[in-house]
Amino acid sequence: MVILDPASTLPYNPTTPLFPLFSTRTYSLDLKLQVLRKMKIFGVAATVAACASCVGASPLGTRNNYNVSLENPALFSLHWQMLEKNSTSGYETPMVDFLAGFLRSKGLTVELQPVSNPTLDPNVRRENVYAYMGSNRQCKMIVNSHTDTVPPYYPPSDNNTDIFGRGANDAKGSIACQITAYLALMEEGVLKEGDVCLLYDVGEERYGDGMAAFVESLDWTPKYILTGEPTESYQATGHKGSINMVVNSTGLTSHSSVPQYGRNAILQLFDYIPKLLNIQPKFPVDPFHGNTSISLSSLMGGSISNAVPDKAVAVLNARTGVPSKQIWDIIKANVPHSQYIDLYRQSASSNPLKFDVIKDWLPKKIMPYGTDLGGWYVKNLKFLLGVGSIATAHSMHEVVSKREMLHAVQYYKQFMQGVLNGTLTPIANGTYPSSYELSDTSKMSKREILLERQKIRSFGGCMH
Ligand SMILES: [Zn+2]
Repeated sequence: MVILDPASTLPYNPTTPLFPLFSTRTYSLDLKLQVLRKMKIFGVAATVAACASCVGASPLGTRNNYNVSLENPALFSLHWQMLEKNSTSGYETPMVDFLAGFLRSKGLTVELQPVSNPTLDPNVRRENVYAYMGSNRQCKMIVNSHTDTVPPYYPPSDNNTDIFGRGANDAKGSIACQITAYLALMEEGVLKEGDVCLLYDVGEERYGDGMAAFVESLDWTPKYILTGEPTESYQATGHKGSINMVVNSTGLTSHSSVPQYGRNAILQLFDYIPKLLNIQPKFPVDPFHGNTSISLSSLMGGSISNAVPDKAVAVLNARTGVPSKQIWDIIKANVPHSQYIDLYRQSASSNPLKFDVIKDWLPKKIMPYGTDLGGWYVKNLKFLLGVGSIATAHSMHEVVSKREMLHAVQYYKQFMQGVLNGTLTPIANGTYPSSYELSDTSKMSKREILLERQKIRSFGGCMH
């Protein structure tokens, strides 16, 4: 049972009539909910927010322990409801339906753009959510993030200061803050039709297909795009490129009692992969993007205990600080050649990118990972900024700070308002165009770029 007793610790007007309900520890959660509903103080959303943490069975404020959620119940309610939706890449429907309904309930026009992917079950409905005020869908600015998460799903929990759960920071924390900021600006009369549209796309973590479908469908160009990802509230100055590599090992099967008659495909990988990883010191270090790293991501091989395996596959990922072609050329020139080993790229690679930043504003930092911004090959200003840290994203202890989320609502508001009215000054540092293949897309026709992107999707090789 969770105790709600913030009355004595609230920094503002502790005599407010909202909280006597929580001044004793003897009320049951159900009773508190019932009374709150009757009081209609916050409305349903806030009621859920006030008690959302109770569901996570964690302390939500004791007499001496103040819960930050109380400072913006609507924000944390929205976040919590999203975290309750399992929206693992490829199966985003519950999150999409929830977001669409929520945004419609706030009076926004909501378009759902179907996103098809030949590698996925066609019966699973996958859609990008695109929302805006009134009828003008061609906004000056698009504020964006992704609705999918990496697996496995686990439900939310919290304490007074932090929220845990799949997607807590990557990227539902940023989505909740963006929407809260947007709705506040709407209510304050700052935003008008055609200023800012919201885009929440599917498939970012694995396929890149949501953003690809959106950008391909554009017959106009937004001047600004702001994407929310875990940047620890730094303005991201850029991120690295990526190469997905596959090593196919071909062996010769034999009975496991006589392994000398076979050639073990797994052991061949054990011999080859360290040699591949040892090439890393040969990679040049870029003064802006830093080093290039390679990690072994997956290893598959063998099927039964009494046979020497004749097939094994390893998948590796390089995060590149210099143009990916340079790294690929170094790898190819340095790994030993073997008739039994085949090394190739799993999908099109991406090059390191630079982003635009706002002058004299939040602190800046380069990010080590890739994002949907790599899919924007149209010429515009691109910004990357959001809550949480890559240090816990994709982990089983994904976390976001409630204080950071409150801060983010303020800076997202500042960003939308300030960029549009000219009080914030963008510095155009961004890389254009976003390079997808090892070649420079500036030398490719739009058709060639689209074909390349199609290839990426069909391989499912756009893992961020
Ligand atoms: Zn993300």
